[in-house]
Amino acid sequence: MQSHNDTIAAISTAPGQGAIGIIRLSGSRSLSILCSIFRTSSDSPFNQFSSHKLYYGHIIDDTGISLDEVLAVYMKAPKTYTREDVVEIHCHGGTSALQQVLQTVLKKGARPAEPGEFTLLAFLNGRLDLTQAEAVMDVIQAKTRKSLICASDQLGGRLGRNIEDFKNRLVKLTAHLESYIDFPEEEIPQFDSYGFRNQASDLIGELETLIGTYSRGRILREGAAVGIIGRPNVGKSSLLNMLLAEERAIVTDMPGTTRDTIEESISVEGLPVRLIDTAGIRQCNNLAESEGVKRSREVMKKADVVLLVLDRSRPLHDSDLELIKMIKGRKALIVLNKKDLSAAFSLTCSGLSKTCADRFQADFIEVSALKNEGMVDLKSAIRNLIIEDPSATEGATITRIRHKTSLEKALQGLSAFISGLKQSNTPPEILALDLREALDGLDSILGVTTADDILNVIFKDFCIGK
Ligand code: GDP
Repeated sequence: MQSHNDTIAAISTAPGQGAIGIIRLSGSRSLSILCSIFRTSSDSPFNQFSSHKLYYGHIIDDTGISLDEVLAVYMKAPKTYTREDVVEIHCHGGTSALQQVLQTVLKKGARPAEPGEFTLLAFLNGRLDLTQAEAVMDVIQAKTRKSLICASDQLGGRLGRNIEDFKNRLVKLTAHLESYIDFPEEEIPQFDSYGFRNQASDLIGELETLIGTYSRGRILREGAAVGIIGRPNVGKSSLLNMLLAEERAIVTDMPGTTRDTIEESISVEGLPVRLIDTAGIRQCNNLAESEGVKRSREVMKKADVVLLVLDRSRPLHDSDLELIKMIKGRKALIVLNKKDLSAAFSLTCSGLSKTCADRFQADFIEVSALKNEGMVDLKSAIRNLIIEDPSATEGATITRIRHKTSLEKALQGLSAFISGLKQSNTPPEILALDLREALDGLDSILGVTTADDILNVIFKDFCIGK
């Protein structure tokens, strides 16, 4: 990122045509730049902007030509997104209108903003902590209602406040401990090892609970990868279509036509899910098929949850049994498709008995992809597989591996602290170092002690203008 004394500008709305498009400026020259290019309806220059009020007028280029009819707002620091002076110009949402107005703004001395620079300023100027800055993109990218609620909650500062609370308690604990270090020898009070241990244990318990929210949080942010596998012609593509509720994958009678993998995003009861349809996993000589098999195995490695589709209307094939073995130990569901046809095998005998199901640790569900039957139950079963306890929505949730690693660091520090306490001769100075490590872990989540390279990784994913 460049100098923060600059005034930066960017188009903040999405590319393409829309009813309106917004150009945003941040920095000390924002207002003067606006005044130099803005004309009211009476065509006269205007420099009487009150803060946080919308003004109607035109943007004029160097030659005095009106580029667009706009609404403009000046927002005086510090009550702004970046805590600097901010200007927004609401133009018509055409590519040319926005580009021409942006060029005019840049000619007046602003420089183009880099991706995420507005949010970086908000973070650097203390308006957002790092968890909130991360949540900004999560809100923008949220694909389902549950993901959005989780991201909004983090943007609202719940996770940050939770970490702050841990931090405050740790700071108190450290201060208390350090008072023993600073006491002159003759006045040292009774060392409260029991009290220290209790407080540290409480913190550990709460940290562990928060770390435990990661599996759910990751899925809310990234989506769960659900791989659809099965022999050719069992109805995988039809099932995908049924779940998508629209014909996107090509369905055909020819075995093995799904040679590549197809990935589609859907919402399953509010959870974001990436459905991955694979080529049938089976032995074959055909090169494209073997490539498909390879990808299928790869997809299975990546999938959080596997749907193994079997054709109920045909006797079980050896490959079906092989596939059943493959999903052993995985979060998986056996989808018995084509229930509209007469069944060629029973669930209680043949190669697939209830005991068999118990052994392979997978539940069954019967559907007809063709007749669109069993969809609601299938979605519920997928939801239950993805998140064991869907009702667990209370409290802050961590959504990134960065949060998890930092919390684990804090946990390690506290565990070492307790181990040290248990050995009665550990000097308080050493115990204080363990608490310091725990504090560092928490600080790095909030961004207080986060290295520049980590910040770069976080902000590089942002869009320009945000
Ligand atoms: P894939 O190779 O596993 O992806 O299988 P497809 O989805 O291409 O389906 C193969 C054939 O089975 C097609 O003719 C589908 O119309 C048919 N099919 C799929 N699901 C059902 C079903 O539930 N009932 C019946 N009767 N046919 C189905």
